[in-house]
Amino acid sequence: MPDKNIIKEVDIAVVGAGPAGLVAAIQAASYGTKVSVFEEHSTIGLPTHCAGLVSVKGFKKLGFYPPSNVVLNKVRGAVFFSPSGHNFVVERRKDQAYVLDRILYDQFLASKAKKIGAKIELACKVSDAFVKRDKVIIKLIKRKMEDVVAAKVLIDAEGVKSVISRRLGFDKPRSLLPAVQFEMMDVEVNDDFVELYFGQKIAPGFFAWIIPTSDSSARVGLAAKSRPLNLLKKFLRSNKQVLKRFRKGRIARVIGGTVITGGPISRTWDSRVLLVGDVAGQVKPTTGGGVVLGSLCSIIAGRVAGEFIRDSLPVNFLSNYEKTWRKFFGREFRSMKILRALLNFLPDKTLDKLFLYISRYEFSDDLAEYGDMDFQYKTILRSLSNIKALAVAFLTLLSQLV
Ligand SMILES: Cc1cc2nc3c(=O)[nH]c(=O)nc-3n(C[C@H](O)[C@H](O)[C@H](O)COP(=O)(O)OP(=O)(O)OC[C@H]3O[C@@H](n4cnc5c(N)ncnc54)[C@H](O)[C@@H]3O)c2cc1C
Repeated sequence: MPDKNIIKEVDIAVVGAGPAGLVAAIQAASYGTKVSVFEEHSTIGLPTHCAGLVSVKGFKKLGFYPPSNVVLNKVRGAVFFSPSGHNFVVERRKDQAYVLDRILYDQFLASKAKKIGAKIELACKVSDAFVKRDKVIIKLIKRKMEDVVAAKVLIDAEGVKSVISRRLGFDKPRSLLPAVQFEMMDVEVNDDFVELYFGQKIAPGFFAWIIPTSDSSARVGLAAKSRPLNLLKKFLRSNKQVLKRFRKGRIARVIGGTVITGGPISRTWDSRVLLVGDVAGQVKPTTGGGVVLGSLCSIIAGRVAGEFIRDSLPVNFLSNYEKTWRKFFGREFRSMKILRALLNFLPDKTLDKLFLYISRYEFSDDLAEYGDMDFQYKTILRSLSNIKALAVAFLTLLSQLV
């Protein structure tokens, strides 16, 4: 393509204004670089595809907290249900997770990005991208018109669809599960606890969740290998623990989406392109939570890209992104993948036995000591030494909703 078609040159172009793209943009712009974020939708945060549960510890690691208007509720524990209804509670004294309004959260990140100097172009779809010599050429469609932008670095944060990343030769994220969630009003829930339901008949390959947004409203959803909508309707109609409390419930909103359980793709960097968030598979295989881990990796991407531009470094410097995030989180992703495989493998009868065993013992102190909503590796290593620790590892895994 002749260069005369290029309408704008930027240092760093970001595809997608979800949490990963916006966090990367904030970091990169903090190095004084010229950053443009391209978002195909006209409103940040819409359409939403998230249960909005994000750990308090996760935010501590991100180095900021969500403002109060973005937080709908705070939870301090979870109730876990086996296929036949055995259950136990993991409870902590302090709040463990925020239930976020994901639309407002994404908009909060967007205003942070703008304040620091990043430009966000809405209703602007990236239709193609390719590396040409020392530039990434990016084709955009805005109001049915085609534009071309050149960037020194492209950060692809397009989410699970991975259309642009595949055009650039990267892999697609693996082990994708369709998910459905109802936002329900007039239901009976304890607003301090999330509820998780396991079982091959309830949600094969994943679990069902109830996340309270208040004491009378909740997000109820599930991901499964197939037919999540049918399974969710069946769950609400027939699960003994849910039926009575949700009978009078009203569905205010239905959302769908794709949960990633296969862990990161094999390569998330090439030449002048960095992949962050869902498109890179930076999602917990245990729980499908990607807001924290994707954003932590995006911080690294933003820093590496920012330094690259500021200090006019050789292009190979960009490989530090992949090296750094794998150094910090690679082990955790691997351990969570093993635990996901274990959960998928356990038949309902074994799950019932394990839940019964756990419900009869007092593990709360061990969990308070070992449990961490985002990082499980240490817990798993400890679990190899004794059976009690194994149960703790299993419990810790179950308490990892986000
Ligand atoms: C049902 C469900 C429940 C979930 N619940 C949780 C939860 O409770 N906690 C949690 O941590 N995670 C949860 N997740 C996962 C979480 O939603 C994702 O990990 C997170 O949104 C990933 O952020 P991202 O920025 O990588 O991608 P996204 O949030 O998907 O953002 C990608 C952005 O890119 C834009 N885009 C895509 N293609 C283009 C293009 N060609 N040009 C321009 N713009 C483009 C999209 O419009 C979008 O705005 C859930 C997922 C699902 C499906």
